[in-house]
This record gives sequence, structure tokens and C-alpha cells, in this order.
Amino acid sequence: MSLSKPLTRRIWRAVRRRWTATLSWRDLASGWGPVADVGVLPGDPLARLGVPADAASDSHRWVEFLGKTRYLNGAKAVVTHSIDDTTEFLPRCLDAIDGHDIKATLFVVTRAEPLISHLWPRLRQAVGNGHEIGSHSRRHPCRVPESFLFCISHMTQDEIEGSRDDIRGNTDQPYVWSFAYPCGNCSDRPFVQRKIARAGYITARAYPDELHDGHALPDLQDYDPNPYAARYTQVVQNGYPKRVVAGRVVAVAGRTDVPTLNGKFDEVSASGGIYSFVSHPQMLDYGRECFYEQHLEYIGRRPDIWYVPMGPLYAYRVLREQTAVRQIASPGGRISFAVFNPLDAKVFNGSVTLEFRAHTPVNVFAGARPLAEGGAGPVTSWRGEYMRRAGQNLLITVQPNTVVTFRRCEKGN
Ligand SMILES: [Zn+2]
Repeated sequence: MSLSKPLTRRIWRAVRRRWTATLSWRDLASGWGPVADVGVLPGDPLARLGVPADAASDSHRWVEFLGKTRYLNGAKAVVTHSIDDTTEFLPRCLDAIDGHDIKATLFVVTRAEPLISHLWPRLRQAVGNGHEIGSHSRRHPCRVPESFLFCISHMTQDEIEGSRDDIRGNTDQPYVWSFAYPCGNCSDRPFVQRKIARAGYITARAYPDELHDGHALPDLQDYDPNPYAARYTQVVQNGYPKRVVAGRVVAVAGRTDVPTLNGKFDEVSASGGIYSFVSHPQMLDYGRECFYEQHLEYIGRRPDIWYVPMGPLYAYRVLREQTAVRQIASPGGRISFAVFNPLDAKVFNGSVTLEFRAHTPVNVFAGARPLAEGGAGPVTSWRGEYMRRAGQNLLITVQPNTVVTFRRCEKGN
């Protein structure tokens, strides 16, 4: 028996009314099937760089390539912060993190009107200050606990792709890298992760199991092996003494004890890890004496830390893995290395840091541009190009798909 068209339409309308206004036919297919890697270009990256694939390698050895540093500019550890939701407290929170040079991903709800329209100018300013705007969906659909049907009907392309397009339309951020699951819903469901990857995001942040306090201390101290269910180290925020979750009144844990918060940062940074902390601006106390800014004060402006938002950090992991360095033939008095990868620079727009040892004084160029000495102190950008001396070695920070050339300094007599 086949259903008549009007009846099918009536059922479909009832489903949409019952579940969601934004579910489309395309949604039912978009979570399945293989997903191509985001931002990988076809073709030969060396050819794009104008270097023949069979370029003879030079036998000069007065400069040696030693390897890529673990983090940008040889930083010892990383701090990344993410800030969830769209509330009137967001600008105050941004002022606090800017006061300590912390870089964050601001996960906004892009149809949270009328507030979001007032916040876009401040968010554009934040992009200019080295923060990232990430998507927290268009309408923040939330159910605790979630279900398979909830995830099908609410994690729609309208929420996932529509919010990405809202960010593109309201800021000049060149790409939208990061998504955060509203209420942490659906983060463990592969079909939702595939939808997010297919929309071009390179990472999606989880918020695990608030009902049982799993959100307070996931204790991740490195990249998450699954970038589309990326956990974090700890929350820094007040709890709720009484909150209705799944029809029950429960207490939701926070973390506000400054020595405990700082101790966790010390533990992660001492092991050279990634300290990733999450806050909701509406769940903070503001003021220099209060826990949030005390913690920012403790972790900010450290000379051996890289401060970076989450999307560019996960992009760096791919950049570092995929970038190859090959010595190529060059005229006398020079040594050149092709620094190349197959990645789309619109998505992977950051730098990598290469460590060299030079046995004679040199000047360094990226393409035709001389690299200035810089980059000492905290690293607060993911896109800079400079060189820095580290003991006997040179740390060269460049955007890949370039040729790095060392020229021997001439003697004056
Ligand atoms: Zn949220």
C-alpha cells in the first residue's frame, strides 16, 4: 500500500510540529555516509609552490632542520578557553579575559534575538583581538537527557549550517572552525558528528553529563582523540544549588575554589599539556578579587604559554602533522627548505614552528620576505611569522606552503 501524497504531507507536517520547525528532508540523509577530510586540496602541494617534485636536495649542511616544535613558537604548554551562550554578561566576561590576554572561543547562539544583534559589534571587535567566534547553534535546543529522536529532530542543518552562515554574515572571521553542543546534547552520536564535519567545522566541544556532574572536571589535558566530541580540563564557574533537570530538582556542581583551579592548571602546564577551561558568563562573579579573575590573573601572561582559541588549536594539530619540510637545491651562499602541506589555507590559516641549527650567522627569509626577530614572551596569535633564538637553535615560525631560505651573513673584512 502506498500513502497518498496529501496524507504523507500531513504526517510530515505533524512530525515537524511535534518535534521541530527546522527539520528538513535533507536532514534525514545528511548524518550518514563517509565524510571527506575538511580543507584538504587535491593535487601536488610542491607543484603549487613551484618546486619540482624531483628537486635535488642540497648537500650543504651549515643549516640543519631538527624538527617541528610541539606547540607554536616552542611554547611549553597551551591555554585555551571557551565561553558558552549568548547572554548580557558576555561583554563583561570578554573585558575580563582581555585584561589578562587570554584567548577564547565564544560559542554564541546566533538567533538569540534581540540580544545577539546588540552583541555582534562587540563580537567583531573580539575577532580583531584574536578570539574566535564558534557556533552554539541557532536556538540552543536542549533536553536532558537527550534521545536519538531528539538528536535527529533538533541537530538539524538549520541549526548547524545556519549558525555557521550567521557567523560568516555578521563577522569578518575568515572561517568558522568550532561548534559546541547545546547542553552537551548528542555529542556522542556519530551521525551528529558527521553532520558537523560535513558543515566544515574541524572540532566540536562536548559538555559531558551535567546531570551527574560529569561536566565539572572531564580532566582532558591534551587534544581529544575525537575532535568532534572534544572534552576539556575543567569548568570555572558557579554551580546551581537548585536547578530543574529532566523534571528533577538537582544541584549542579561548579568549580570556584581558586587554589584548586590554579592547582589543576599547574598540573597540566608542568606536563606540557593543553589546559582547556570552560565558563558560562552568567555563572561567574566579576571583580579582581573574585574567583574567575583571580584564576585568569594566575594563568595569564606567562612567557612560555601559547594562548589560543580552540578552533585554531585543533587546526594547528592538523597543520603540524601534515606539514613536510624538504631541503631543495639553492644557489651558493644559501640553503632553502620547502615547507608544504596539502591543506587549504582558508581553513588552516595558522603558522607552524620549525627548529633549525645554524653553524654560521644567517639571515632568514620566508619567500622573499626577511623574518624579523620576535616572538619572545607569551604567544597570543596563531598566525605570526618571525624567528627566535633558543640557545644554539633558531625557531622559525611561518605559515606553510612557502620556501624558507637561510643566507649566510657576509664578513665585513
Ligand atoms: Zn549552552
